[in-house]
Amino acid sequence: MGKIVILDENTANQIAAGEVVERPASVVKELVENSIDAGSSNISIEINNGGISMIKVVDNGSGIDEDDVEIAFERHSTSKIRKADDLESIYTLGFRGEALASIASVSLVELTTRVKEKPYGKYIKIQGGLVKEVRQTGCPVGTTFIVRDLFYNTPARFKFLKKDTTEAGYVSDIVNRIALGNPHISIKLVNNRNCVIHTPGNNDLLSTIFSLYGKETAKEVLEVRYKDEKVEIFGYAGKPEIARTTRNYQSIYINGRYIRNKTIFSAIDEAYKTYLMKNKFAFVVLQIKINPIFVDVNVHPTKMEVRFSDEQTIFRAVYHAINNALLSKSLIRNVEISE
Ligand code: ADP
Ligand code: MG
Repeated sequence: MGKIVILDENTANQIAAGEVVERPASVVKELVENSIDAGSSNISIEINNGGISMIKVVDNGSGIDEDDVEIAFERHSTSKIRKADDLESIYTLGFRGEALASIASVSLVELTTRVKEKPYGKYIKIQGGLVKEVRQTGCPVGTTFIVRDLFYNTPARFKFLKKDTTEAGYVSDIVNRIALGNPHISIKLVNNRNCVIHTPGNNDLLSTIFSLYGKETAKEVLEVRYKDEKVEIFGYAGKPEIARTTRNYQSIYINGRYIRNKTIFSAIDEAYKTYLMKNKFAFVVLQIKINPIFVDVNVHPTKMEVRFSDEQTIFRAVYHAINNALLSKSLIRNVEISE
């Protein structure tokens, strides 16, 4: 008798969840990215106990057609790509079709959703990957997701969660980054009934920076604008005066996706080299547009890492973009005053 079996679907989902869903912040990231992909202009997130006991995400996006609601929770189910070739030209944040299946396998999920073509919506309740209830319901166009008791059935995962306040911090950090990368969407985060983030959604990056980091930061940033044949960059670079001791205040977006990338970080460091002391990191927000053909986003399950086919081009673009901003008049004047 052989010993090898194929795991049942729910077990496979729980294992896959280990890759995508590490903590409440990863659930929030996946749900909010889905809301963005659905074309929402308004997304509101509410968490209790750091998101461990409850995460609620409400959007006014396209909604999910009633016929698709159950399929959406299957593994590898997505409306965003059809074949591997589509990965070459990906403009959506999602494409792996794993988040909903993963989240639903390790929590209690309630989804209410409606598309504008239908006068009613659909409600589904799933516990540990098993469908408990499905029915039609009256609701506004868009989607409401409630995730309760994360990791209630995976004690090994639950054990690794930190204190509520620490988890709430992770959630707030990820929502902050997503909000900064999407100034055209009004994003709100409520933690234990306190509103901690609320961006205007007026498509103005500077007023989004203002709402997330305050006036002191917003008035000390320089506009970044750059364009060559392959890369286009828009954003803000902090004056040396507001440099920090960590890289946490550097937010980079490639085609709307928040990423971390060594080449880009070192281009930023290089541009600031003559302005900053060692171990100081500039405040930087960069929205980089590049033909998706030059970027591989399918490097890591959380899609936070990307690979560029031409690292030199991206390095040069980021370096020059920031360098030009730093050389702009306002900074020179400012340096003179401070000397
Ligand atoms: P992916 O985002 O990689 O496609 P997910 O598991 O995150 O996979 O979601 C599965 C599908 O469910 C999506 O492709 C999308 O069609 C649908 N979906 C999920 N969340 C939303 C939402 N908030 N609004 C509209 N559709 C959604
Ligand atoms: Mg998704």
